[in-house]
Amino acid sequence: MDHQEHRNIVDVAVIGGGLAGLAAAASLGRAGLRVRCCERAASFGGRGRTLITETEAGRFAMNLGAHALYLSGRARPILEDLGVACVGGTPQVESAYLADGRSHRLPATPGALIASTALDLRGKLGLMRVFAGLSRVDPATLAGMSAEDWIAARAGGATCHRMLRSLFTLTSYSARLDTLDARAAVRSLQLALQGVRYIDGGWQALVEGTLQAARAHGVELRPNCGVRRLTRDPEGGWIVEAGDERWRARQVILALGPGPARRLLAEAEVRTGSIPADARAVHAACLELGLRGPWTKPAFALRSEPATYLSVHSHTAQDMAPKGCCALSVVVYLGREALDADAVRARAESMVDALEPSWRERVLARRFMPRMVVAHALPAPGVEVGTGLAEPEPAPGLHLVGDWVRRPEEAPGDPALLLDSALASAMTAVEGVRRTLSRAPSARARLVGNEPGAGVGVAI
Ligand SMILES: Cc1cc2nc3c(=O)[nH]c(=O)nc-3n(C[C@H](O)[C@H](O)[C@H](O)COP(=O)(O)OP(=O)(O)OC[C@H]3O[C@@H](n4cnc5c(N)ncnc54)[C@H](O)[C@@H]3O)c2cc1C
Repeated sequence: MDHQEHRNIVDVAVIGGGLAGLAAAASLGRAGLRVRCCERAASFGGRGRTLITETEAGRFAMNLGAHALYLSGRARPILEDLGVACVGGTPQVESAYLADGRSHRLPATPGALIASTALDLRGKLGLMRVFAGLSRVDPATLAGMSAEDWIAARAGGATCHRMLRSLFTLTSYSARLDTLDARAAVRSLQLALQGVRYIDGGWQALVEGTLQAARAHGVELRPNCGVRRLTRDPEGGWIVEAGDERWRARQVILALGPGPARRLLAEAEVRTGSIPADARAVHAACLELGLRGPWTKPAFALRSEPATYLSVHSHTAQDMAPKGCCALSVVVYLGREALDADAVRARAESMVDALEPSWRERVLARRFMPRMVVAHALPAPGVEVGTGLAEPEPAPGLHLVGDWVRRPEEAPGDPALLLDSALASAMTAVEGVRRTLSRAPSARARLVGNEPGAGVGVAI
């Protein structure tokens, strides 16, 4: 094998350098495999990136929409196992609930619930009953129900119903609760009540930590490397093409959205029937604001209609805003309604108006993203969890990763959402690759003995 050929063979090509692709690449690099991770964009991180805006007052860190890490979810131990520090704070701030055209306190304790003006007496008693039993609900028993059905069966009165809808939408990002599996909705609310963390400096800290792990384990990181073609290698494995380069990979992980994955798989003549359609995606509009001066109003707020969220992340996480300034995120949960970008922006801004009418005079930084894909497919009611999702290994040596991919090991009562599902799927692919390559003598040697990343060329 000449030098050129040696360079052009890897054990695993990871295509897509979001958090899931990076976590898979770092784990496989740590296992001793020779891994190349290709990202189409100039920087890694995908939807986990944080963009920095420099202003006269200093720098604002803005996530691509509000992001919180579920402390008891699947993602955190996976990241921490790779040495990624998930440092930040748990929001414990004054909260508001906007309903009936006014601002109420969002009740966080039984005492606050009794005093709350957001619910009538029937609603308060209903909500108390729901929360008293919530941690004991086994989501597995809710098969066949939608989140909306569950609320209708449990909620005592209209104000309790309204509050539960807001909370389910907050934790799942879905404004279409009739299409969300009750098991996933209840599980995500249970997880949220166990605590979330806003990450210091934004989710970029998670991206940087995962990148660092990948580098430390010898992963070859290729930004600006959009893979345009994938074909089966007649000698076994896969041929990957990006720009004017081609190389061979014994195994491939596609850690992309379903759209780009579908195109690559079609060319590779891999059956794509089970890839969820775009219609199953959950979208949100996100307004990120950097304001001069402190935020003196409730730093967390939910609005019942239209479903909207506001949170001042700089109150909880460090390094989000310059000293004396504040950084806040507004999310408008998008449902079935067809709205243009201006209408959605107006909705987002009206949420800030409701709390702080003079905010426009204080704007130092602003970013509006009218339609972000938060999740490619949330579990749907009435079918087994995982139905309608893509198979994790649709062809030998080809692994799919993302929240749109079935995770065979997932218990029906513990469905993961958002980053938890993307990273759980990444770990399924890692296991699949390791299982297969441990049967190939040349790669097995590296898996069991060699220094991580000290890969030698292997004939496929
Ligand atoms: C507004 C918003 C709020 C969210 N809030 C939360 C939250 O609070 N908690 C939570 O857990 N999750 C949240 N999420 C979800 C979380 O961001 C995602 O689950 C996670 O970032 C997905 O990572 P990924 O690697 O699977 O996908 P992505 O981040 O989408 O990465 C895919 C990567 O593939 C690259 N790519 C595409 N095509 C190619 C190609 N041909 N060749 C090479 N590379 C390619 C893309 O450029 C991209 O970088 C939120 C998402 C959004 C949008």
